[in-house]
Amino acid sequence: PRYVRVNTLKTCVDDVIDFFKRQGYSYLGKAASVEELRALSGKKFLLDLHLPELLVFPPQTDFHDNLLYTSGHIILQDKASCLPAFLLSPAAGSHVIDACAAPGNKTSHLAALLKNKGQIFAFDVDPKRVATMSTLLTRAGVTSCQLAQQDFLTVDPGDAKYSRVTHILLDPSCSGSGMVTRGPGEEAAASAERLQALSGFQRRVLSHALSFPALQRLVYSTCSLHREENEDVVQAVLQEQGSAFRLVTAFPSWPCRGLAALPGAECCLRASPTETLTQGFFVAVLERCGAGAAAPSMFVQS
Ligand code: SAM
Repeated sequence: PRYVRVNTLKTCVDDVIDFFKRQGYSYLGKAASVEELRALSGKKFLLDLHLPELLVFPPQTDFHDNLLYTSGHIILQDKASCLPAFLLSPAAGSHVIDACAAPGNKTSHLAALLKNKGQIFAFDVDPKRVATMSTLLTRAGVTSCQLAQQDFLTVDPGDAKYSRVTHILLDPSCSGSGMVTRGPGEEAAASAERLQALSGFQRRVLSHALSFPALQRLVYSTCSLHREENEDVVQAVLQEQGSAFRLVTAFPSWPCRGLAALPGAECCLRASPTETLTQGFFVAVLERCGAGAAAPSMFVQS
């Protein structure tokens, strides 16, 4: 399906539904199952069953020229890519870091959850991607974000500027092996050396993120299917952290869980074209021990 995230900084779900109805689409209500999404065809659309601000249209629907898209009222974002900000769930007014942020769809989602209240510190090392992101954030009406072209590993967790950062979204570079829209000629499989280099970076950047003193909750995500970039990274870093952080169960009703070979993997969430009708994706939610809800028994270091 084509997923459309309603940008609540500029509009609301009901108004967007009315707009598409006026454009000749029939609204079928909230989906009750993934099968309903799979069966969508013609000029029909649904509200997603998992995410509250996500509309679902049949495959091939293209809204790149639609007024709602060009004016930033809707964001064309795969459902799996909406999970990290939704699961980080910072309250309005929070201070949040988006560590590897460009091109910024997750950052604009965070800003919508914050209602533009609070502060997002967004970093990306790539100047071109930062420029694209700046345009995207302006179009989306994001006013609560300081965007910096900077290697996140060089951001000082001791800087007073970040002393109130309670939430971090970490969506680092990965092999992209879960992306189903890759064209012919694009990388099909990462070599063992590349996977090792990527997972080394992912571990370093996750460790660094966990060193921010006021951090309470972190979401780690990739669009990779490789265990080496996902469950293994989370497990290695949690082990290194001792009893400071624990893995919490992300989205208990989500059908597709982390790879069962690992202890605590059921806390993590996976997404796939066949099971969840999304890109291939991985999400883990970590909390500082002593923060929020009771710890699940898995992955808790004692
Ligand atoms: N979260 C983004 C979104 O939803 O639009 C996608 C992020 S993409 C998977 C990973 C990003 O990490 C790339 O834009 C890349 O330039 C950036 N990156 C890689 N190494 C980095 C580093 N050391 N510090 C900050 N950003 C980095």
